[in-house]
Amino acid sequence: MKVAVSGFKGRMGHEVVKTVLAAEDMELVAVLDHEPSEKNINEVTAFSELDVPVFGDMQAMLKAAEPECVVDFTTPKVGYVHTKTILENGVRAVVGTTGITTEQLQELTEIAESKKTGAIIAPNFAVGAVLMMQFAQKAAKYFPNVEIIELHHDQKLDAPSGTARKTAEMMAETRKAISQGAEGEEETIPGARGAEFDGMRIHSVRLPGLVAHQEVIFGAKGQGLTIRHDSYHRESFMSGVALSIRKTAELATLIYGLENILD
Ligand code: NAP
Repeated sequence: MKVAVSGFKGRMGHEVVKTVLAAEDMELVAVLDHEPSEKNINEVTAFSELDVPVFGDMQAMLKAAEPECVVDFTTPKVGYVHTKTILENGVRAVVGTTGITTEQLQELTEIAESKKTGAIIAPNFAVGAVLMMQFAQKAAKYFPNVEIIELHHDQKLDAPSGTARKTAEMMAETRKAISQGAEGEEETIPGARGAEFDGMRIHSVRLPGLVAHQEVIFGAKGQGLTIRHDSYHRESFMSGVALSIRKTAELATLIYGLENILD
């Protein structure tokens, strides 16, 4: 499969390039960067042995390199625009970039369906994180009092994380909607109780040294339950990315969430 990587110089994009190169059934045909100074990936020290063209514009890359699938790990500002361009050109997409809104997701799904093109967007490609979300969804049925603490490296641009948002959405499907905390509680410092999603609270921690971590903490009379997942290295996301690249070939629509393609 001819694969292109958008955001190849980023932390995730770099790992995706290595993953595509290591896969026997994939060929890296192009990479995309924001206003690149290079014309070929071999001008980047880590990839000096390769011969792959670098592009600065998605449309130009799709036309010249004709990838069958584009993997995008860029920034919340451009992730949606890139995905739209990829799908409008009838090219398959695997998108890990976070910050895509529910409305944008709906629009992208409609484009994928009209073009009969496979796409997978996942806020978290780590299998352990998907299990954490599923376990949390199950627990929320019995423990409606819950708070999410997500912890990421301090260069992350969006908050809360896409994983925290997705976890809250999944729990909202099983959890009895209740308002948590004391009636009439007051924040003496604004934001102290975190962001609110359907009555649940989400807290975002940003620190150097972290990669991607999340705790879902449930409380009930006389007992507590904590579900935690840690990504210590970006390799943790790569088996999910590789699976998704292959899976898009079998799809004619957009799927949101890795859990929907796992057996
Ligand atoms: P990063 O290191 O900042 O990488 C982003 C890369 O995208 C940078 O090289 C950046 O270039 C490039 N870029 C920015 N605008 C671009 C454009 N218009 N065209 C092409 N490239 C562009 O960030 P990261 O840690 O790799 O994370 C990337 C995204 O993936 C974030 O949204 C993050 O939340 C998400 N993420 C998802 C998962 C998952 O499992 N789904 C896991 C981890 C992270 P410049 O530096 O030159 O601007």
